[in-house]
Amino acid sequence: SIYGDYIKSVIRTVPDWPQPGVNFRDITPLLQNSAAFRKLIDSFVHRYQEMDLDAIAAIDARGFIIGAPLAYELGCSFVPVRKKGKLPFRTISETYTLEYGQSEVELHADAFQHGDRILLVDDLIATGGTMCAAAKLITRSGGHVVETATIIDLPELAGSDKIREAGFGVFAVCS
Ligand code: IMP
Repeated sequence: SIYGDYIKSVIRTVPDWPQPGVNFRDITPLLQNSAAFRKLIDSFVHRYQEMDLDAIAAIDARGFIIGAPLAYELGCSFVPVRKKGKLPFRTISETYTLEYGQSEVELHADAFQHGDRILLVDDLIATGGTMCAAAKLITRSGGHVVETATIIDLPELAGSDKIREAGFGVFAVCS
């Protein structure tokens, strides 16, 4: 993508967090840098401004940081995809498997109109499990997932391959 190398240069890797052996990609230096944050949002605006989207669906919680300004700029609605137990109204949910155990994402049952064109965003793709589950949930609720988008794709984990195999496109600002 246009600013990919630059965006990558302002993301910090924290070794052994949250547990030994994990290299955590920390986007807070990117968010602290107003010029970098603007370039990040502009990267998504540049790609999606002509795609006639109805809504941005963003994954709890770092997906919200990019989803909300993108929805504002593109003039579409914003829909939160949340971790289990956070949404107050009637929900539909999708369970998925993690390395150890399971996780669940939820969506309000009235989040979309049938056929709405949805962009799904999150900050990072690791195994791809979270993005896949959220994309399936949106599809089940009648939305059309135009693409999934992320700041960082970790290609060694092949998460984006998994998402593509499930039938959804993937856009990453950097990898
Ligand atoms: P996946 O389901 O294995 O692809 O993991 C992606 C989810 O975990 C996303 O919602 C990310 O926010 C979070 N995540 C996993 N690893 C990292 C990381 O290194 N930095 C930031 N978020 C991460």
